[in-house]
Amino acid sequence: GIALHQAKAEGRRCHRVYRPALREAAQQVRLLRGALHDAVRLGEFVLFYQPQVSLADGSLVGAEALLRWRHPRDGLLAPAAFLATLESSSCAAEVGDWVLEQACRQAVRWRAGGAPGFRIGVNLSAAQFQRGDIAETVARTLVRTGLPPAGLELEITETIVLRHDDVALAPLARLRALGVGIAFDDYGTGYASLSLLKRYPLTRLKIDRSFVTGMTSSRRDETIVRAILQLGHGFKLDVIAEGIETEREHARLRAKGCREGQGFLFGRPMPAEAFAALYGLDGGAAVPAAAQ
Ligand code: C2E
Ligand code: MG
Ligand code: MG
Repeated sequence: GIALHQAKAEGRRCHRVYRPALREAAQQVRLLRGALHDAVRLGEFVLFYQPQVSLADGSLVGAEALLRWRHPRDGLLAPAAFLATLESSSCAAEVGDWVLEQACRQAVRWRAGGAPGFRIGVNLSAAQFQRGDIAETVARTLVRTGLPPAGLELEITETIVLRHDDVALAPLARLRALGVGIAFDDYGTGYASLSLLKRYPLTRLKIDRSFVTGMTSSRRDETIVRAILQLGHGFKLDVIAEGIETEREHARLRAKGCREGQGFLFGRPMPAEAFAALYGLDGGAAVPAAAQ
């Protein structure tokens, strides 16, 4: 497993030195995997929603669904604490299905409850592509929940796409043909970004938070932000800026022609009830979990 892999990577001599620490790390991963399987069974996952707004007037355009784990002992955990291990577990695709279903159902309620054009963003993982039925799964979920395809935006990363190019392209094209939005997440931080723009059926670029954070103090970051906006314009893609924390960033982005944004300035990821209260929507109550 991991220990062997790392030992090999680090060479023979290091192997002996690091073995106890690596064995412990591998044991930690095994424990976490077990706990994640229990979490699925016990319904400990929950979705938080972060508002996406129009930069012109602050009006709500949608939300990104973000996974949280209500850990029985450690409290509320963000993906950084468990996502890497989840992705390497056999329940990764199952959790992805749950996220998709839950997010679509919530979007349907909010569209009926005061935000008719509301769009929900859902992050996809590599495991969901590996299984080979992502297009069917999404299409079925839309029918089952009654969410129109335009109300859903799937977020993919360059890492997913590059590692699974053969299995990712065709299903994404099918989903795009249905009218589902496809956003490139963390745009600009990975590799081969430009050639992927030609081949993938995208509808939006998400400017990575690191460039937004840097743009008010670094000419280089500002140049990258401007370039991404120009790429978006040239490829007829929508663009949203992630991680907007200050009025200054907001104003700069708006002046550059960025139309949508997401970040702590407008709202942190929050439970459905809090989101509904903030935007005066009906249907904020937690959606009961789908039969597993
Ligand atoms: P992401 O998709 O890029 O999501 C945006 C992350 O940036 C979220 O972190 C959000 O809380 C954070 N963020 C948003 N605005 C700000 C801001 O103004 N300042 C700062 N400092 N941070 C901001 P979160 O929720 O911890 O999620 C981390 C990553 O985990 C996500 O990055 C996404 O890649 C992954 N993730 C989250 N939920 C899911 C899921 O349901 N499925 C999959 N496959 N991945 C998920
Ligand atoms: Mg995302
Ligand atoms: Mg992102």
